[in-house]
Amino acid sequence: MKLETKIVHISKPDELTGAISTPIYQTSSYVQEAPDVNKGFAYTRTGNPTRKVVEEAIAELEMGTNGFAFASGLAATDCVLKLLKQGDEVVAVNDVYGGTYRVLTTIYNRLGITSKFIDTTDIENVKNAISSKTRFIWLESPTNPTLKISDIAEISKLAKSVGALLIVDNTFLSPVLQNPIELGADIVVHSGTKYLSGHGDVLSGFLVVKDPKLAEELKYIQNTTGGVLSPFDSWLTLRGIQTLPLRMKKHSENGLKVAEFLVNHPKVDKVYYPGLKGHKNHEIAANQQKAFGGMVSFSLKDDTIAAATDFLTRTKIFLLAENLGDVRSLVSHPVSMTHKSTPIEVRKASGIQDSLIRLSVGIEDIEDLLEDLKQALS
Ligand SMILES: *Cc1c(COP(=O)(O)O)cnc(C)c1O
Repeated sequence: MKLETKIVHISKPDELTGAISTPIYQTSSYVQEAPDVNKGFAYTRTGNPTRKVVEEAIAELEMGTNGFAFASGLAATDCVLKLLKQGDEVVAVNDVYGGTYRVLTTIYNRLGITSKFIDTTDIENVKNAISSKTRFIWLESPTNPTLKISDIAEISKLAKSVGALLIVDNTFLSPVLQNPIELGADIVVHSGTKYLSGHGDVLSGFLVVKDPKLAEELKYIQNTTGGVLSPFDSWLTLRGIQTLPLRMKKHSENGLKVAEFLVNHPKVDKVYYPGLKGHKNHEIAANQQKAFGGMVSFSLKDDTIAAATDFLTRTKIFLLAENLGDVRSLVSHPVSMTHKSTPIEVRKASGIQDSLIRLSVGIEDIEDLLEDLKQALS
């Protein structure tokens, strides 16, 4: 079956009742016939039938064997980091998601796990950063908010050669547009809060692997530390996933048109979109992705926070909100919102200028979107 068919039917009718929509098993525990004799479920932290459906769905979509659902993207990230021990080192892309940067540099740093943040768009930098302590290489491609592209397949070969695991946060593209496991990644991370659920109404996070030993370790940490996704939020995310291919197609079409519009606007300085021929790693993106997605960033010729704020408060369809991947178009200002906790030097080094504006282009009519950008820029 093709992806669009498979995904619509990703939740199977309930075996017990035939319910076409996966039931929300809102229960904490399950009655047992005798001690340890049960129908496969004992306690919802360990397993829940609604969560199981969404976990199997994400594993299938990401070409893995096991999926794990968490209460947020950061809970999923935290579960991966708990594979580490004191003295281990993480090599991460330098404009990694702000929350990932924060957990690495505060909580895990305090526990004796160090991180290096480098520009992974050039494989030489990755080679130079690796040491005998490197356990993880942590990528996002494209990154947030400057849409940098790293060569996942090349970096995965490098990771294997030094015995490190490659972790790819695939939130920005979703499994419909990129499958890191196929490119050699060991663990895929998702914030399901974004494109997977797609409607700005739920927080969720996922991990996918295909190595049985890694699956067992993550399952152990998930159950032991307990950051699991609730039955209702599992159901909401599952419902979102059913329209994912349709939405990603429209996000990508609109994203490209918005990027092309911005490139030609006199007040706009730089435009960051992997679908533009002028993007530094356009060819790599075209190879490893199925389309270019809905995230577009740009800076203004008047590179000031004031000019950015002026724009951000004038858009009418693009809503000013700290999220992405919503069906609605959203706009944000990384410097004062998502990257507030990133130190200025780190921020500047990864190209996050004062006027940088990030758009999460929604699925509205493209003419309305362009009109809104035009009036806000004028
Ligand atoms: C939002 C986001 C996260 C964190 O997810 P939450 O669901 O907000 O905890 C991680 N990585 C990326 C790329 C994100 O955009």
